[in-house]
Amino acid sequence: MSHPCLSCGACCATYRVGFHWSEAAPELGGQVPAELTETLDAHRLVMRGTWAAAPRCIALDAEIGVRARCSIHPQRPSVCREVPASLEDGTGPRSGQCDRARLRHGFPVLTEADWQDYLRAQTDMAVPNGVAIASVPPAADDRPPGMAGTAPHA
Ligand code: SF4
Ligand code: SF4
Repeated sequence: MSHPCLSCGACCATYRVGFHWSEAAPELGGQVPAELTETLDAHRLVMRGTWAAAPRCIALDAEIGVRARCSIHPQRPSVCREVPASLEDGTGPRSGQCDRARLRHGFPVLTEADWQDYLRAQTDMAVPNGVAIASVPPAADDRPPGMAGTAPHA
């Protein structure tokens, strides 16, 4: 089983993703592609598509609930990095934003069993010399679509 976010994407199609304009200002170190944003107010931008009655981030490459990836993962806004999936790696706290997004799209909230399946699949991976490599969970920046992960929100 892959990381649960890779077959979800619900949070990127639920919340308004707002953040300070400087995150899209290269001269200040910002990395979010400015062309994928729009102005929310004097201080904030939003990811295009998320300031809508039926939000869906323009950077989301997904069939919600089947496959999902953030097309700007290394450059995603800070808010997208700050919300973990519920019970991340089986030991984290519940995430209200993750749970609400999944329920809104008709999916059950993540359970410990979801993470056990994922971690077991990681452990079963092996390198050619037979040494298991996946007792080590992926680094946060390897996780999809955006949360500490994906989830976004201002
Ligand atoms: S954080 Fe939760 S809602 Fe967002 S993609 Fe992952 S599992 Fe889905
Ligand atoms: S992680 Fe953020 S930028 Fe990437 S698709 Fe989701 S809401 Fe959009």
